[in-house]
Amino acid sequence: MQKNKYEKIHQNILIWYKEYGRVTLPWRNINSPYEVYLSEIMLQQTQVKTVLERFYFQFLEKFPTLKDVANAPVEDVLKAWEGLGYYTRARNLHKTAIETKGTLPHSAEALEELSGIGKSTANAVACFAFDEALPILDANVKRILYRFFAVKVCNDKKLWELAYELYDKNNAYIYNQSMMDIGSAICTHKNPSCEVCPFESLCQGKEKPLLYPEKKIKKKKPIRKRTLVIYYKKDKYALRQNKERLLSGLWGFKQEEDFEVSKHTIKLGAFKQHYTHFTLEASVVLFEDKEQKSYFSINEIHDLALSGADRKALALLEKYCQ
Ligand code: SF4
Repeated sequence: MQKNKYEKIHQNILIWYKEYGRVTLPWRNINSPYEVYLSEIMLQQTQVKTVLERFYFQFLEKFPTLKDVANAPVEDVLKAWEGLGYYTRARNLHKTAIETKGTLPHSAEALEELSGIGKSTANAVACFAFDEALPILDANVKRILYRFFAVKVCNDKKLWELAYELYDKNNAYIYNQSMMDIGSAICTHKNPSCEVCPFESLCQGKEKPLLYPEKKIKKKKPIRKRTLVIYYKKDKYALRQNKERLLSGLWGFKQEEDFEVSKHTIKLGAFKQHYTHFTLEASVVLFEDKEQKSYFSINEIHDLALSGADRKALALLEKYCQ
């Protein structure tokens, strides 16, 4: 039988994981596909620490099973997701819960058909929850591959080929978990510790790891200036439910592009909110208007799912009302 040229590295990884792997993470070594899936979705854009400290357990307390997610209105799921950002993830989680009636399919192929599940997440859930031997390709894995194969520029198709070439099909679970741990602790963006890395013996980029991948010149994010107008009627405030894709389903105050400040306008303050593709610079004002659609008391607003920007506006309003 032909020997796998990466066999030694695979052995190193098994040894490394035993000693340094984050085996106590609550979504590892469990029998709940839902919890594995939930962690994968939460971790797509958010750091482990934040997910662990503020969201994972709290979400599971509200929705112990995927069936509970399916049976809840999407507003409740968004409310539980509040503060985690990238709300499309929460809407897709809800859609997937309904589509599957609360039971996830077992194969990566079927998982990839579901809302919001790409190839890497499908492979991760299939591997971690259903023992399918497949590689994953998240940001940490990509960085390791770029460096291991000393590739400066690469598209996802080629990266997948490299991922399939390098992974350990006999121990895919440990290999994939190790890749995530090595990517976050050893083969880091700015300061890789090649001397303690289990890939070191065959890594082609170890002499100058920071050359891989080639840095993209970051475009400056456009700035969107808006007036966030809190229309009020007595002690109630007007909010509307967002329809735009980014924040769809979340409640918010009205954002005006050309709001004219008059002597009746009360200025509450200003803030910045960073989104993936732009930065919002908002000034927040209070203005009496009895013609808006839905008004809420401050207590009622706390029960709604709000975006980060609207939370900041609410904090300014509460400060003013004190
Ligand atoms: S040897 Fe260095 S560059 Fe290569 S994978 Fe390990 S940490 Fe990254």
